[in-house]
Amino acid sequence: MYLRLLGSAAGGGSPQWNCGCANCAGIRAGDAALEARTQASAAVSADGRQWFLLNVSPDVRAQIEAFPALHPRRLRDTPIGGIVLSNGDVDACLGLFILREDQPLVLYASEAVERGLREHNALTRTLERRPGQLTWSRLRAGEAVPLVGAAGPSGLTLEAVPVPGTVPLHLKGLAAPSAEDNLALVVRDARGRSLVYAPTAAAATPLLDERARAADVLVFDGTFFRDDELTSLGLTTRSARDMAHWPLGGPEGSLRWLAQLPCRRKILTHINNSNPILRGGAPERDEVIAAGVEVARDGLEVEI
Ligand SMILES: [Zn+2]
Repeated sequence: MYLRLLGSAAGGGSPQWNCGCANCAGIRAGDAALEARTQASAAVSADGRQWFLLNVSPDVRAQIEAFPALHPRRLRDTPIGGIVLSNGDVDACLGLFILREDQPLVLYASEAVERGLREHNALTRTLERRPGQLTWSRLRAGEAVPLVGAAGPSGLTLEAVPVPGTVPLHLKGLAAPSAEDNLALVVRDARGRSLVYAPTAAAATPLLDERARAADVLVFDGTFFRDDELTSLGLTTRSARDMAHWPLGGPEGSLRWLAQLPCRRKILTHINNSNPILRGGAPERDEVIAAGVEVARDGLEVEI
C-alpha cells in the first residue's frame, strides 16, 4: 500500500490568510526553520494506479498538481477512484466542490456526514447534476467495507472507527451529535498491512487503541501542543479540548499514548499554524521526535 500525505496543516493551512502569529509571519518571511503547509488530506493506493483520497481539503487542486500520480492520463480522466471522509468539517470536505467539472466521484461517508452535506448545503447539488455523477457509499461504525472506486475494486478495505469528536461548527444547532461525526479510517491491504488515519481526535478509545496498536503506520491528530495554545494568544476563548482536539503535551497529552505504540511509523498531521512543533529546533518538536513520533510535511510518502 502506498500513502502520500497531500497536506499536513489543520484548517486554515499555514500560513493562514488572516493570521500574523509567529509561525505564520515566519513562513511568510522565509524563516528556514519553518515551512508552508496545505490543509490535511492523504492519498492511498494498493497498486499506484487507482488512488483514494482520505478527506479532500480546500487545497486539493494544488495538492493534485504537486503529485503526478494524480494527474489525468487522458483528455478527461482522474486516477482518483474515490474519496473517504473522516468527518464533515470544512477543511475535510470543502475540496469536494473543487472536484466538480462533471467528473464521476465515489464518496464514502457516514450517515451523519452525508446528511450534513446533502441536507444543509445546496453546493452538493453541483456534484449531483446528473444521475451517476456522485455515488454515495455508506460508512458504518465498526464495519469494514471493500474500497471500490470508479475504476473498480482497489484491493483495499476500509474500517470506520468512531473517535471522540464534535459536530462541525457550521452544523451546530442544525444536526444532533452522532457517534459517527468523527471517524478514524483504518485501511488494510490484501497482505494485512494497515494504516490508521485519524487526523482529528479528542481522545483515544479502547477500539482506537487496539487498531493503532496493530497498525503498521499511524497518522494522528497533531493539531495543538497545548490545551491553551490559542487562548493564551488571545485568539479565541476555546481550548484545544473544547475544539475536540487532544493536545500533544503534558502528562495527559497524546504524546504519552503515541510513544508506547509499537507502529513502525507514527506521524502527526492536521497541525495548526499556532503549534510550536512546526519550528525546527523548538523544544516541543524535540520532545515529539524523542517520543519516536514524526511531524508530517506536505508530500511525505510511505510504502506500507
Ligand atoms: Zn498563525
